[in-house]
Amino acid sequence: MKGGQVASRIETQDSVALIVAIEAIGGRLADAPYDVVERVGRVSFEKVDDIEVRWDHGVIVVSVKDKSLGLSDLKAELVRFAALGMSSSYMYAAFRIEAPSLSGSGARTFADDLERLHSVAASGIISEWIQCRNDFDSVYGISAKVAANTVLSVRDLRRDAATTRAIFASTFRSVFPVQNFSDVALVSLFDEYTSSHMAKSRRRRRTVLLRELQDAILLPLLPVDFIASSSSYLRTPIGYVLDPRRQVANARDYSLKRAAYKNILRRWWKHTWKMTLADFLYRGPIRCPMCNHAVVRAMIGTRGFVCSGCGYQPFLTVLYACDCRSAVPLVRQPSTDGLAVFTELVSEIRREPRTCDNCNRRILPENMFGRIFGFSAPWPVESFSQKMLIDFRISIGWNGFQFRVPGETPLTLLNKGAWDPADPDAFNPSVQ
Ligand SMILES: [Zn+2]
Ligand SMILES: [Zn+2]
Repeated sequence: MKGGQVASRIETQDSVALIVAIEAIGGRLADAPYDVVERVGRVSFEKVDDIEVRWDHGVIVVSVKDKSLGLSDLKAELVRFAALGMSSSYMYAAFRIEAPSLSGSGARTFADDLERLHSVAASGIISEWIQCRNDFDSVYGISAKVAANTVLSVRDLRRDAATTRAIFASTFRSVFPVQNFSDVALVSLFDEYTSSHMAKSRRRRRTVLLRELQDAILLPLLPVDFIASSSSYLRTPIGYVLDPRRQVANARDYSLKRAAYKNILRRWWKHTWKMTLADFLYRGPIRCPMCNHAVVRAMIGTRGFVCSGCGYQPFLTVLYACDCRSAVPLVRQPSTDGLAVFTELVSEIRREPRTCDNCNRRILPENMFGRIFGFSAPWPVESFSQKMLIDFRISIGWNGFQFRVPGETPLTLLNKGAWDPADPDAFNPSVQ
């Protein structure tokens, strides 16, 4: 193998490791528990295979390929996995192949058969499973048990591929609570994390804790007051000390927030998937009222509706995660100063106590710091319609794809100081 090929394979490992780690953090990695972060989830490099995602009592062994795989390559991988599975430390292992593409009809049929094996195994119907397992064994001469524990992920995650950055950006948005990030900002984050964090850990054979990665990515993105609130440190006259009780409380707040958020996300997906599908199939994506970017992609797997071109979010609701894991809406369309919103909310709740619709528990002001979060949709999320955005586009001067000032968008005018969002009619067309 030439030096260049080795380098590219290793760089592919870094980008696969980053994306798989973020999927694991978000509870979206097949075969990993949704709370893998809490279970001391971690990623290590080149221990037995290219990458391993581990947690207590579990491991996913990831084999990274940077070239197209044919049927014989796939079979060889499964034979290798079967040998790994025999060693006692891998008793509960799941396997994963990350490949940019498949070559030949044999490989594609194999992928389909693997898919079928998974769904039959998941269905739990023993007779079907036995039949399917025997078929697989006799056609491929490979243990169907290992195959049923193997995920074949076909997507181009080579570090320099454009698709890698797009996959990273959409995965990132679906996992981390940062709406105000453009694709450009996410791409630079991707470059930084693959070339520094992941590459360094790989070279030093260091294990990356998912919790650590999550904090390292999130901390710089959060406003200062939020960091103070979620920190487990106690301020003393001689500095800061870790408070174990606060650590426990914070972990609990965090998991409640995540559960409440997942509930809303489920409702949001349920409400929007048909619109999204219609956009893809025949309607064409709705466009951002601010920058005219097609925002359809942003509707899938984010914290609501955010333009991936300029970060514009038409709606924001601040919610509180109740002990029963449901979300209680506190305020719609708050001001943008986080601390001001927070203090207003606390005093309002003190003045006028609020309860959870689901379990009737009181919202406690002392819990609010760790329990509030934002979602970029109106409330209830089912009240969202694309018509709201279309009406808004029309009201600020769009006619189809044409803005009333030719060659401009509200965003370009805003940047020139020629448009006031508080008074959309008061734009100054003489400014060029
Ligand atoms: Zn936009
Ligand atoms: Zn409740």
